[in-house]
Amino acid sequence: MVKVCFITLGCKVNQTESEAMAQLFRNAGYQLVDFRQIPDVVVINTCTVTNTGGSKSRQAIRRAIKAFPESFVVVAGCYSQIAPAEVLGIPGVDLVLGTQDRRQILKWIEYVRKTKKPYAAVRNIGQAQDFEEFPQIKEESRTRAMLKIEEGCNRFCAYCIIPFARGPVRSRLPGNALAEAQKLVKAGYREIVLTGIHIGAYGEDLAGGWDLAGLLKLLIGIPGLHRLRLGSLESVEFKAELMEIISSSPVICPHLHIPLQSGSRQVLTKMQRPYTPADYRDLLEKLFRSVPGLAVTTDIIVGFPGESAADHAQSLEFAAGCNFAGIHVFPYSQRQGTLAAAYPDQVSGRVKVQRVKEMRQVARESQEAYVKSRLGHTVEVLVERVDAQGRAFGHTENYLAVNLAPELKGGNWEAGQLVAVRLAPEHICPPK
Ligand code: SF4
Repeated sequence: MVKVCFITLGCKVNQTESEAMAQLFRNAGYQLVDFRQIPDVVVINTCTVTNTGGSKSRQAIRRAIKAFPESFVVVAGCYSQIAPAEVLGIPGVDLVLGTQDRRQILKWIEYVRKTKKPYAAVRNIGQAQDFEEFPQIKEESRTRAMLKIEEGCNRFCAYCIIPFARGPVRSRLPGNALAEAQKLVKAGYREIVLTGIHIGAYGEDLAGGWDLAGLLKLLIGIPGLHRLRLGSLESVEFKAELMEIISSSPVICPHLHIPLQSGSRQVLTKMQRPYTPADYRDLLEKLFRSVPGLAVTTDIIVGFPGESAADHAQSLEFAAGCNFAGIHVFPYSQRQGTLAAAYPDQVSGRVKVQRVKEMRQVARESQEAYVKSRLGHTVEVLVERVDAQGRAFGHTENYLAVNLAPELKGGNWEAGQLVAVRLAPEHICPPK
């Protein structure tokens, strides 16, 4: 049997797309293997969101070529979309794909095998018009499934390379999203996670007035759907209808990821983010009032060009006052091609390191305070895996990572089980 191996970097969307490409190979009779076996084809799905993403992608490509010198090497994803020639120039790379046309991956492999010449099948993403549909993913585990509903972004925040790698907003047709969600529920999945590059922009490109609220209304009506978890949403996208659905539907998980990026008004303006800290706080207050036990997680960038010590102090203080359940902290990464890359007053690496340390301290304290506030409450755990000792691991509806002892409630845990638990400190998994 021909073997294929995937190496995936980056976000949930990349993970979902690697699984989708893997399904194409399975459907063509390939066997999916990991590094321990020598594959006939190795696919590296790359990331470029930060400088680190780019260098990690190059490292992963070189490592794969060194480990599997006889294998056919395909490089796809965001890094190869913005730098196809650079990737094709790496000796040992056979085929380069970007962030579209991955559905043709097997066709392109045949083409390169025939021509015996490395090739980059990367089109201009700025002209992309359609959402790329993939065949339904058939996974072993039947617990949580990713459902990609949107591609691209039209926003061009000053620091962000994503619109250059992913192109304009393309929404999946509501009927196709509904059909796949129905199949997932029928297949026994307990939780569906809606993913995309900018799901809050869902429908911007569709006729008929579609938006995310409209799609959610469609999906929450699926009989047997237990949990619907939303991917990252921008604070400006919480229109009244969306708020209403999130607060009234028992299916939608009380966990929202809403990037703040900075708690300084001045820095948000330079980032070209369309809200102020006060707007953001008003939204949080509304959400916490209308969704009991809500967990809000966020992203914060420190060391953005021109961020003064006072701006940073403001950001620390603001973030500490938001009752976040989790904060992903990123040092600003200068990405060529973005507006901010040319800004004066780039912050030094030394200062960034210190500011990351300080913001991560706020993140730790916020997460501990949130966990403490949930102790003693009865939560529902979706068991995602059981280890060799019989200990179960999974997530609560508000996305706390928990573990359940083998002997708890008679044990015999199975993936896919939903368990009501009165949350105690021993259930909480240590933060990654
Ligand atoms: S909204 Fe801004 S940060 Fe998010 S993907 Fe689009 S450009 Fe990047």
